[in-house]
Amino acid sequence: MSDVVSPDALGSAASHVVAPPVPAGAPLVEVRGLRKDYPIGGGFLGRARATVHAVAGVDLTVRTGETLGIVGESGSGKSTLGRCILRLTEPTAGSVSFGGRDVLALSGRDLRAMRREMQIVFQDPYASLNPRMRIGAIVAEGIEIHGLARGAAKRARVHELLEKVGLRPEHYDRYPHEFSGGQRQRVGIARALAVGPRFIVADEPVSALDVSIQAQVLNLLRRLQDEMHLAYLFISHDLRVVAHVSHRVAVMYLGKIVEQAPVAELYRNPRHPYTRALLSAVPVPDPRRRPDRIRLGGDVPSPVNPPTGCAFHPRCPYAEDRCRRDVPPLIEGAEEHAVACHVFPAPPR
Ligand code: SF4
Repeated sequence: MSDVVSPDALGSAASHVVAPPVPAGAPLVEVRGLRKDYPIGGGFLGRARATVHAVAGVDLTVRTGETLGIVGESGSGKSTLGRCILRLTEPTAGSVSFGGRDVLALSGRDLRAMRREMQIVFQDPYASLNPRMRIGAIVAEGIEIHGLARGAAKRARVHELLEKVGLRPEHYDRYPHEFSGGQRQRVGIARALAVGPRFIVADEPVSALDVSIQAQVLNLLRRLQDEMHLAYLFISHDLRVVAHVSHRVAVMYLGKIVEQAPVAELYRNPRHPYTRALLSAVPVPDPRRRPDRIRLGGDVPSPVNPPTGCAFHPRCPYAEDRCRRDVPPLIEGAEEHAVACHVFPAPPR
């Protein structure tokens, strides 16, 4: 039940701003060379038998007030990336800065204060709320931990948050089991907002919900972003969902970003064969506009022993010798469009 633990619960009372204000549209979160390795297996004398390279060197930037969508199949490392940025999981290497402050160098009071600024909305609204706590107590947890309000003021703040996410003040004394999946996710969002964050990692926030409810929660996230100038890292396996909420999209494959572009540019002009395969599988309402389905051969390779060169080469219909030998770097071209591919590079500037 690790998801029951909110980032706030990892610290105790401390609440001073540790990063300066960042103007709208300026970089807020900057990640460089981020890696996360997990040693696995108990070999001789407890030594690791192998290493899972869950995140294999990621660079990204999230600007104030924007949504960067991260899309990829299960096992691409996207959730681990989000957790490393928040330091819910400690990265193996690389750097994360928030408003110019080095997040990985923080400890104690400064780290706890930073957790006010960087929150998470979890995937599963059923598992992420403690079933023994009332909704009011769940939303108030961060307010208490960071010493933001007490007594009547705390209750009033929680009422305000419940209304902000489309719930009612009388829901304060109810338990999670009395709510639908969509309502529980609204509680999860209220909990994240309670401490006044500037950045939220939304980790598959609608994938456990019915399609009819997904749009409501996505629209809520967009409205809150406009009202509160929030920056989101929006993680999903579903390109349709990512397109609905994102300003820019990064496509991950085996722990790396293989393509990144503003959302309209990526959908109009996908370059990387993996992105094109993902896009070709997205249902479109008009069958006459359906792109030819690109079926990928083979399974996603193991991150324990990733292929040499381009990790996508065993499944790529365009693979050449150099693809099997050399790792393609992520290179940015025109339109802020970056691609890691030897054969289909970014559009020239
Ligand atoms: Fe395919 Fe080669 Fe491009 Fe990798 S680098 S996606 S193998 S064409």
